Amino acid sequence: MVRLVLVGPPGAGKGTQAAVLSEHLAVPHISSGDLFRENIDNATPLGKEAKSYLDAGELVPDEVTNEMVRQRLKAADAAEGFLLDGFPRTTPQADVLNGILAENGMELSAVVQFEVPREELVRRLLERGRSDDTEDLIRRRLDVYDSETAPLLDYYRDKLITIDAFGPVEEVSSRALEALRTRT
Ligand code: AMP
Repeated sequence: MVRLVLVGPPGAGKGTQAAVLSEHLAVPHISSGDLFRENIDNATPLGKEAKSYLDAGELVPDEVTNEMVRQRLKAADAAEGFLLDGFPRTTPQADVLNGILAENGMELSAVVQFEVPREELVRRLLERGRSDDTEDLIRRRLDVYDSETAPLLDYYRDKLITIDAFGPVEEVSSRALEALRTRT
């Protein structure tokens, strides 16, 4: 059974790789950003609470985020493994995830880091054009990544697999699958 966390700055292609890996590994792709966007599209109370943060490129407060992920991990499909994309994004969230896993007698298999040069990130994000992909918001989200999320790389150093994510999608997925084969 495989339980993975994917880490990488906005624009690293995490979401794209998550979709490919989840299919290959036959585990659900759980993206906190997608869960927020679905809630916003459906105008749920959680969506209304989260919207201003996504619009500003800021992290949604932990009370909201942690509870949303806890509920999602309780769903039957996640009992057979999962691939978490976008959560945890801070070390306190990683502590919460440890707690959720421990309650269920689970452990992470690995943490996969996608590495891409900064100029390439900005180029990709400007090309993607999601509503939070304007130049100011990109800069803000990259700063948030550096200050809040990058510390996870040290937090998870014992489980970390670093993938060079510069290159065509299929090449990057092959590198990731190969690394997972040898490391998990
Ligand atoms: P993403 O799709 O992963 O780029 O996430 C888009 C936005 O959703 C982020 O800029 C945050 O506003 C919010 N978000 C996603 N995951 C988290 C998280 N783990 N903690 C707080 N906010 C999050």
